[in-house]
Amino acid sequence: MKKFLILVAASIAAVATAPFIGESSAQTGASTPAQQTASRLITLGTRGGPIPSKDRAQSSNLLIVNDTYYIVDAGDGLLRRLAQANANFRKVGKIFITHDHDDHTSGLGPLMSVSWDFQRHDPIDVYGPPGTAALVKGAIQYYTVNAEIRWVEGRRTPLSDVFVGHDVQPGAIYEDANIKVTAAENTHFHIPEGTPYAGKYKSYAYRFQTPDRVIVFTGDTGPSDAVTELAKNADVLVSEVASAEVARPADRIHAPHCRGTSHARGSGENGRARQCEEGHPDPLDADGHGE
Ligand SMILES: [Zn+2]
Repeated sequence: MKKFLILVAASIAAVATAPFIGESSAQTGASTPAQQTASRLITLGTRGGPIPSKDRAQSSNLLIVNDTYYIVDAGDGLLRRLAQANANFRKVGKIFITHDHDDHTSGLGPLMSVSWDFQRHDPIDVYGPPGTAALVKGAIQYYTVNAEIRWVEGRRTPLSDVFVGHDVQPGAIYEDANIKVTAAENTHFHIPEGTPYAGKYKSYAYRFQTPDRVIVFTGDTGPSDAVTELAKNADVLVSEVASAEVARPADRIHAPHCRGTSHARGSGENGRARQCEEGHPDPLDADGHGE
């Protein structure tokens, strides 16, 4: 792989946050035609897990292609991070959720609601594993009270016209003039057979083909041949990292698979990303340690 950049979505140590915690833009020559179609990736939220952090938002990314916005995961803090990135929330119309854990979806409702508040009429499509459409329906119900209160302010668009959830299966899930998106099921979930929700939910990694490069988001995952295959010849890999070395002993017991394993090891000579499920960092140490 000629170029392979890993963006770490949750590092093992506290990092002072700049407006853009991580940013990667295609390096194209000034004033070339390619510059007009170059993709831009901003990692908005890099906090792993649901424990709040004073310096980091939960998982979320903004991919911009031809001035079109695509959100990948929508954890808590998404709206604020968009504002800090000077990105207009009203331009968000496509959202891709890797999995429906709350730290990847808690920012979804506020984004949709404030868009509706500001008279968005076009749909905001939310794509994700099975359960995503139900989650969006729940958001509609949650914000119905707000919508009814604001009816007198002239807001008439039905919430269900604006919020549209799509449950998708692995494979090609979306394509427009800017991007083609492919999903693969990763190994994040371990719901035992025989338990109430076995087989009901999935967790995905996404591959985004843009005009100038391929960007892969692993989502939360353990080692996964499907993710390795999905990431082949990618230019950028956005992954989540945890450290078994700095995790508390109790975390290691609860997350025995967090052993510095790597689904990306086979994906490129520099492509090493230590993967782990969400750990359980000490709330008093919530600025990035141990997650
Ligand atoms: Zn998760």
